[in-house]
Amino acid sequence: MQEIRELNLPELREKMRELSEKPFRAEQIYSWLHERLCASFDEMSNLSLPLREKLREHFRLFLPEPVRILSSSLDGTRKFIFRLEDGHIIESVFMRYRHGNTVCISSQVGCRMGCRFCASTLEGLARNLSAAEMLTQVYQIQRLLGERISNVVVMGSGEPLDNYENLTKFVRMISDERGLHLSQRNLTVSTCGLVPELLRLSEEGFQLTLALSLHAPNDEIRRRLMPIAARYPLSELLPAVRHYFERTGRRVSFEYSVVRDLNDTREEAEALSSLLKKLRDGGEGSAGQQKGFPLHVNLIPVNPIRERSWERPERKRIEDFQHVLEKNGISATIRREMGADISGACGQLRRDYLGEKRSGTN
Ligand code: SAH
Repeated sequence: MQEIRELNLPELREKMRELSEKPFRAEQIYSWLHERLCASFDEMSNLSLPLREKLREHFRLFLPEPVRILSSSLDGTRKFIFRLEDGHIIESVFMRYRHGNTVCISSQVGCRMGCRFCASTLEGLARNLSAAEMLTQVYQIQRLLGERISNVVVMGSGEPLDNYENLTKFVRMISDERGLHLSQRNLTVSTCGLVPELLRLSEEGFQLTLALSLHAPNDEIRRRLMPIAARYPLSELLPAVRHYFERTGRRVSFEYSVVRDLNDTREEAEALSSLLKKLRDGGEGSAGQQKGFPLHVNLIPVNPIRERSWERPERKRIEDFQHVLEKNGISATIRREMGADISGACGQLRRDYLGEKRSGTN
């Protein structure tokens, strides 16, 4: 049986036709599902009882079940551990920023990219999340907190471009004016850099913000941190990023997780500056192309995970790194740690939860 939130509006209209219902029912139902964020067919009070019954017979309707919620007393950050319908566990985070309430969602259960410092990938990929499972992380948090979510970042567990079809369906549905109607400019997709999918994404006509996980000024260091760097060297990746900008006009942000004695020296900051300056000012030189594309570096002090020995540099060293970039005209910020009292690296909370379940302590 199909999950009803998996259907976009045209698909839902088609289903209504198949079920010999009036097409306008689709609009009503879609609004219950994606605007009013209902949890059950019973809530659909402007539909007749027989129609609600028919929907129940033909579709599943599920919201992820919060099995643990951690709240920060410092800044209102909340981390949610959700159980999916098939029992898989995922993690989502709510953060309150000046520019609006932001939810960080997962795009896969686990991940197969293997980045060395990331907890989400330690046990590989279990499965992709469906578009509905990405949407309902946002819906459920908005319901539970009773606060409107204005920004979504696809920066939780998983590699979004490794789940391309579901990701793009999610983007269309969450920005649909008949749903949450989130502005695509308030939607960020973070990727480790799958070149073919990045090129494909450039052609979708989206207004997304792209965050590229760079983490190194050259291929040699990058390969030590990210297996994907062996498949797509910077000489292929960076032109693809520039192409994304040229097709969308959107600023790109580069994530750089700073790891002690690995990628945190002044020389590496200088090398990163030249790499990005070349990218910004250079391009391929084709006629009519926009110059000087706006880019930004987000320095993330690495979150050490138990299973690996990476360490975070001293604060001063990260600030020096930032100053080198700025001196070279590259805008850079150090990511503010949200919910420091409930901290935990990406995917670590989920692992803790699963670990407790396995050992029967909860
Ligand atoms: N697969 C996507 C989204 C993953 S997480 C991507 O690679 O971009 C979002 C960001 O957090 C990525 O830049 C990722 O490399 C980084 N990250 C993951 N674990 C981390 C850790 N323990 N410390 C610091 N940054 C981490």
